[in-house]
Amino acid sequence: MRVQIVGAGPSGSVSAVSALREGHNVCLYEEHEKAGFPVNCSGLISKEGLSSLSDIVDFRRHTINRIKGAVIDCAGSRLLVDSGRDIAYVLDRASFDGALAQKAEEEGAKLFFGKRITSFPKGNLIGADGPLSSVASGFGFPGISRFVGTSQCRVRYDGEMPDHVRVFLSNEMFPGFFAWMIPQNEEEAEAGAGCVLPGNSDRALNALSKYTGILFPKERKHSIIPVARRHRTALSSGSRNVLLVGDAAGQVKSTTGGGVVFGTSCARIAGRLAGRPNEYEERWRAAHAKDLDAHYHIHYALGRLSGDSLRALASVSSAFRIEEFLKKEGNMDRPTKMLGPNLLLHPLRSLLQK
Ligand SMILES: Cc1cc2nc3c(=O)[nH]c(=O)nc-3n(C[C@H](O)[C@H](O)[C@H](O)COP(=O)(O)OP(=O)(O)OC[C@H]3O[C@@H](n4cnc5c(N)ncnc54)[C@H](O)[C@@H]3O)c2cc1C
Repeated sequence: MRVQIVGAGPSGSVSAVSALREGHNVCLYEEHEKAGFPVNCSGLISKEGLSSLSDIVDFRRHTINRIKGAVIDCAGSRLLVDSGRDIAYVLDRASFDGALAQKAEEEGAKLFFGKRITSFPKGNLIGADGPLSSVASGFGFPGISRFVGTSQCRVRYDGEMPDHVRVFLSNEMFPGFFAWMIPQNEEEAEAGAGCVLPGNSDRALNALSKYTGILFPKERKHSIIPVARRHRTALSSGSRNVLLVGDAAGQVKSTTGGGVVFGTSCARIAGRLAGRPNEYEERWRAAHAKDLDAHYHIHYALGRLSGDSLRALASVSSAFRIEEFLKKEGNMDRPTKMLGPNLLLHPLRSLLQK
């Protein structure tokens, strides 16, 4: 069977590898001259998520920093989550995406760079063409109801805890989302701010600059992140099947905007089931809908809290030593894995220990 894949981001390349391993002929089209450019990502990906790709890419070759935890600023109140071990890595996304596309080519995919798809090639189609998917609009898929606009820049960093990301929650400054500083090394960090559209992400980034007292450069990159899923991600149209995957499908953690882990996991399923749209829809939802729903609900609830409520949340979390709970049970990708007896027992133990 011939499988045509639009977009050589991580979801497209992993779909390609998966379809090839199923014995299909694969063509992969990318509008840019190479995979991974322009970079629109902070590159922070969980260790567990990256390990799940070990049969396709050796992430260590693309790692630029190791992350052990986070300093979370809840409208002025600080929470430190320190796992004491590497839980995530900052990747060079351009080289990571390049390696994934190269792997697809090595395994037999035909790659077409510099080719923007405007009319769709014959055969079964996978739309891995990002948040503004033209495959989705071309085939009349339902839209994505919620996007975050982002503004990012590279800043000099004071080197304080270079193995911890900094997260800033404040719906006054970053409406509906958050701001971040992700250390790339001891001297530089990727700073960014997002807000639910139609909010102004440049204004949000300026607010972060003022809040941290760090002067940010004028050159900024802008992008968007889908933070809600499409209600439908696969269909049959005439004699062909069309599947959406990754950002094109909205398979993104709404809490953080991270899309590589879920996107590539769904991409494996898409590659295997390229000719079976109903099964694809069922399988990826069975595997991931609960976690993606949990991310969405947390994102939505946090996005409505006032500064006072965020500070109260930080002090309640400290009182119940939530940091300790997260250190032991935390899971960056799968909130449902944290649901267990310890979620109730931990606060009770904390109270008894007082
Ligand atoms: C500011 C920011 C920070 C982020 N930080 C993180 C992070 O730290 N960790 C994380 O996991 N995720 C992060 N993300 C999200 C992550 O970048 C995406 O979820 C991920 O890139 C999605 O992969 P994808 O392959 O689905 O889509 P994309 O990476 O968007 O790839 C789609 C590809 O399709 C190509 N394309 C589009 N249309 C066409 C066409 N018509 N014809 C041919 N080619 C086409 C594009 O050029 C692109 O290469 C961040 C996003 C933003 C905006």
